[in-house]
This record gives sequence, C-alpha cells and structure tokens, in this order.
Amino acid sequence: MRYFELTEPEDLDNFHWSGSYRAEHPWYLPTILCPRCGAWGDMTAYPSVDLSALPEKDQLKSPWPQTREEYERRKALVLPFVPPEIQLEPGCRFGPLVGTAMGRFGPITAMPSWQVLVREDTLTALQEAGLKGIIPVRAQLRNRRTKELPQYELEARPLAKLHPACIQDRDWVPTCRESCGNSGFRLPPERWLLGEALPKDLDLFGVEGTTRIVVSERFVDTVNRLGPCDVVYREITVE
Ligand SMILES: [Zn+2]
Repeated sequence: MRYFELTEPEDLDNFHWSGSYRAEHPWYLPTILCPRCGAWGDMTAYPSVDLSALPEKDQLKSPWPQTREEYERRKALVLPFVPPEIQLEPGCRFGPLVGTAMGRFGPITAMPSWQVLVREDTLTALQEAGLKGIIPVRAQLRNRRTKELPQYELEARPLAKLHPACIQDRDWVPTCRESCGNSGFRLPPERWLLGEALPKDLDLFGVEGTTRIVVSERFVDTVNRLGPCDVVYREITVE
C-alpha cells in the first residue's frame, strides 16, 4: 500500500472549485504560556469529541494561553470524553465545525491541509469502498446555496509516527527548563513513516507530533473517481 500526505495546491490560480468556509470548533484546550517559550500549542482537532454534556464546557471556549497548571486543570475536565488513542495537546480543538460556507465544493477540501472535509457523496463512496479509519463528523456550515451537499470533517487520530532517522538533531526542540512541557520537533522537509508503528489497514490517520494527515492509495483512488479535486497528494514512504 502506498501512502500520501494531504497538502494544499501551490498554484492558487488554477482551482477547480470556488468553495470556501469560515468555521471554528466549539471547544478548546488553551495553549500554554511559558516565561521561556512564549505561547505554544498546536491546531489538532478532534471533531468527534462531544463536550456538550460537560458542565464546565463554557470554560473551554477559548484557546487563549494559560499557565501549565490551568491547562492541566482543563485537560482533566476533557479527558473522560476522549478515546485512549487521542493524545491531548495544548491548543487541541473539539466538536463539529460551526460556521458559514460559500461557493461550490469539490469531492474533498483540505484548506488548511490539517482540516479535511468531504462532501456527502464522497463520504458514501469511501464507506461503500470499505475504507477503514474514516471518522466523519458533519460540519455545521450555513450555506445560501440550498442545494449544496453537507460537508463532513474527517477526524485524523495520531496513530502513525515519523521515522526517527528523518528528524535531525537541529529539529528537536529541547525540553523546556521551566518545565512547561514543551518538547518535540520541527517538521522535517524530508520525511517518511516508521513501518513498525504504522496502523494496520487504515486509510486515513494523523502523524504523532505533527499536523500532517496521511491517506492511503485506496483513499486517493476512491476520491479521484468523483472528479477533479483541489488537493495535492505528496507520497510519503514507509521504512
Ligand atoms: Zn517553556
């Protein structure tokens, strides 16, 4: 099986589709404010995590930076609602996208590349083809075009790892002395996946420590059958 990272097209003048949207997830973990590192966090979203039954959910309306202690307090509120394969990070978002949309959407939209939306007919095709690891959450997008098909965000859980050999020494962020918990690595331009950590038989997944979303060749073939798409697939090898 071959695998591909979703990336945005570079040639902005050659789009097939006019669709765009403005939408946010309803709940956040805060980013962390550290005297040494500044504010840090990431953009990973888990739309399937529904916090509507959480009594303290109104305390999760903002990603505004907080102390490590406050981050840990809010993380503890969210934890019971999160499946075990999701690792919570500062800045994580939860719940379905809510907002507005305009224009016409292609079979798949990935703008930005870490937010993947598919049309309802695309979702049906993926499900009928028996693809695995597809976690769709209907986006609540108001659209003046009443005939526009609903959009579904596909949740990518960080189930794969980059191969350690593709992360150079200079890419590692040294663990923070003020112990805000900041560590990790900058995304290496040349990268490949660690074979032994590859999730078995899944057609869509995230990559630990990054915002990258990877899909299988099966996924690409199924989506491409529905017509032209404004998404670029960059092959990522496995070793
Ligand atoms: Zn720090």
